[in-house]
Amino acid sequence: MNPTELSLWELQRRLAKRELSAVEVTRNYLEQIAATNEVVNTFITQCHETAMAEAEKADQLLAADQAAPLTGIPLAVKDIFNTKGVRTTCASRILDSYIAPYDATAVARIKEQGAVLVGKLNMDEFAMGSSNENSAFGPVKNPWNLQCVPGGSSGGSAACVAARQAVAALGTDTGGSIRQPASHCGVVGLKPTYGRVSRYGVIAYASSLDQVGPVTRDVRDCATLLQAISGYDPADSTSVDTPVPDYSQALLPDLKGMKIGLPSEYFVAGLDADVKAAVEQSVETCRQLGAEVIEVSLPHTAYAVACYYLIATAEASSNLARYDGVRFGLRSETAGSLIDMYMESRAAGFGAEVKRRIMLGTYALSSGYYDAYYLKAQKVRTLIRQDFLDAFSQVDLLLTPVAPTPAFAIGEKIADPLQMYLSDIFTIPVNLAGTCALSLPCGFSGTGMPIGLQLIGKPFAESEILRAAYAFEQATEWHKRQATI
Ligand code: GLN
Repeated sequence: MNPTELSLWELQRRLAKRELSAVEVTRNYLEQIAATNEVVNTFITQCHETAMAEAEKADQLLAADQAAPLTGIPLAVKDIFNTKGVRTTCASRILDSYIAPYDATAVARIKEQGAVLVGKLNMDEFAMGSSNENSAFGPVKNPWNLQCVPGGSSGGSAACVAARQAVAALGTDTGGSIRQPASHCGVVGLKPTYGRVSRYGVIAYASSLDQVGPVTRDVRDCATLLQAISGYDPADSTSVDTPVPDYSQALLPDLKGMKIGLPSEYFVAGLDADVKAAVEQSVETCRQLGAEVIEVSLPHTAYAVACYYLIATAEASSNLARYDGVRFGLRSETAGSLIDMYMESRAAGFGAEVKRRIMLGTYALSSGYYDAYYLKAQKVRTLIRQDFLDAFSQVDLLLTPVAPTPAFAIGEKIADPLQMYLSDIFTIPVNLAGTCALSLPCGFSGTGMPIGLQLIGKPFAESEILRAAYAFEQATEWHKRQATI
């Protein structure tokens, strides 16, 4: 069997027993990347030489019985993570030659644990998008159907795991960017609670919403990778200093004693029939596994997308002010004055969607409009968070679809930003509430595209959603199907 077929935990076991060497595993992954990257366009930067050197080092550690949990495991990270010595573009022309002088904390942690970094993954520019079509490096293709989008903005992360180009990947999620692509590509993706994972060294989009998380082949792998990256970091003042539980202990085979809520606002007209059927079938599976299922309400759901597009764009307009042509990446060489240099660098460096967001955010924050838009949105955000806390006083977790439809065709929504924004309607509220949620495979559409199930947990209750997801996964076969790429 080719090692690229193995999950992270199977690989750990075989590496530990020396049934496989890290060099052999890494070589197979690099070959898979070479054979498929032209087709799926997942990697912006590949790290062949350094990956082989890291794999050799991993074999020495394994031989000396000094292995860490990720020693010799080939991983890839979204190109939003700063990586020392390896270019970080955020899929933008404005950063296309930027090389960071340090590693993001999440990257440093997986490296400390022995992971082999095979490359940096394609994404929507500055993580703004739901389809990966907003990349300066071209769209990523969905490994299940190359005519379809992989979702976004961590589309490269999800597609790379589905195409077996890395064992697992890291992504970021501001409004759904881990869960929605995981759903569209038939893999597992988790957005941790805000503060669980350090954002240090992750290029900021909307700082009060951004969170780092794993994209993996199954739930056990998700627990392992979450373990590796979680925990307090003095370099990120929003990371929270609470103990990190042993997530592998959470993986139990049933749902006895668990109470699951179905938010009525998430099962409405407009939900694709195949998605609805798959999610309803999943509810039945959860009942059979011992869960009690009740209906709950999240009454402010209808305001979430509008609220998000005020807060996220306001924060983005401020965060992206630093790309001025002076300090990072692209600089206009023709401008006659300093102001022209700023303007020309930004005009040439940012794509259309990023410009749209900067303008929306600047408008929402401008004098005279601040109270009507930004301040109002902050108040609505509090109401949305309170909806979740109220629901969690009745249930342990919430079960919903991840996205209203399976992966759509490339080009289908790109000319209609509002339609694109609505594809995150079920994921955005979780970021506004700051809590955790996971997406895992729960079925396929009539056209053979994967469908994801979202499990939403209380703040810092990642263990509970992992437990429920594991029990569900053990009882179903969806995660065993593979894209044919
Ligand atoms: N699609 C949403 C947006 O464009 C979410 C993106 C994300 O989570 N980074 O803002």
